[in-house]
Amino acid sequence: MSHSLLLLPGDGIGTEIMVEVEKIIAWTNGEGLTDFSTDHGLVGGAAFDKHQVAVTEEDVEKAKAADAVIFGAVGGPKWDDVPYEHRPEAALLRLRKELGVFANLRPAICYPALAEASSLKRELIEGLDILIVRELTGGVYFGEPKQITDLGNGQKRAVDTQVYETYEIDRIARVAFDLARTRSGKVHSADKKNVMKSGVLWDEVVRSVARDYPDVEFHHILADNAAMQLVRNPKQFDVMVTDNLFGDILSDAAAMLTGSLGMLPSASLGAPDPVTGKRKAFYEPVHGSAPDIAGKGIANPIAMIASFAMALRYSFGLVELAGKVEAAIAAVLGDGLRTADIGESNRKTIGTEEMGAAILSKL
Ligand code: ATP
Ligand code: MG
Repeated sequence: MSHSLLLLPGDGIGTEIMVEVEKIIAWTNGEGLTDFSTDHGLVGGAAFDKHQVAVTEEDVEKAKAADAVIFGAVGGPKWDDVPYEHRPEAALLRLRKELGVFANLRPAICYPALAEASSLKRELIEGLDILIVRELTGGVYFGEPKQITDLGNGQKRAVDTQVYETYEIDRIARVAFDLARTRSGKVHSADKKNVMKSGVLWDEVVRSVARDYPDVEFHHILADNAAMQLVRNPKQFDVMVTDNLFGDILSDAAAMLTGSLGMLPSASLGAPDPVTGKRKAFYEPVHGSAPDIAGKGIANPIAMIASFAMALRYSFGLVELAGKVEAAIAAVLGDGLRTADIGESNRKTIGTEEMGAAILSKL
């Protein structure tokens, strides 16, 4: 069956690394392993230059209609002075909101070849494979009131509000438990129920979801302890589910155990459609548009390619093919090939195109 992909390369290295994904799509289609139709759109600065907005209505509609959106990166100094509502990052927020992608999946995987060269203790990170499931559309990022008030006596008061409702916690918890079933079957839920009411509700709802998954091992952990344990003994974790703010922080901490920003993929999933069961989905590398290296042909395409592998797994159920793409990445690293961001001082590095070609030739 044919599936549609909307490719949104964006700005900076986004365009360079998307090219490498397109080559892989051409290969999977060519081998008869997939039947993807692809369409392209402009986002971020690229869209602003042509249409004076960060993303056009037409492309928003295309994103909603596509089976999956593959997004590169947006932004750069060229657009520092564009009106706030049209700044490149606005495209990302708009698309996330329109697609309703409330579950942000951030894997932290340590490839064996990189564990060897890491400055971290090898036994700490070798074989590391954590999946952080971050709630993406609620919590303190969106709760009202959210304001700074002038108190008049040279003092101001700032207020952010953390709000969660049962349904929001229930649906993110189910995503985490479902994913745990496809992995090693363990979920940690991180909150601050010792000081926050939203944490009390979070824990109550996650625990009740846990009862529907007796086959999954469930642990509660306070978010500050989770941060400490991620640094002390990260391999104790499999799936970690947490709210928007803690997820932001804990996923960045977990990410840095693995090496470079250039290695890290992500997926954002929406609710299953009541009729088709299909989820809206948005795949992007964790890193940004890297203006400092844009146009030089040296960006690491692995985060982008690994994001595409997540699309194969989570949007199309092509688990084996996703595993093959990930194995090709591991194999290339095992051969000693490195882009500059993951390079070691005594090793020659290769560019974006060569890395893409090496992964393709493993496939
Ligand atoms: P954003 O605000 O979009 O997250 P940022 O400036 O915080 O952007 P990045 O654009 O991700 O972060 O860049 C941070 C650093 O990491 C830069 O020095 C950049 O060159 C490097 N970097 C990011 N992604 C890659 C990549 N794929 N390959 C090589 N280097 C990268
Ligand atoms: Mg950043």
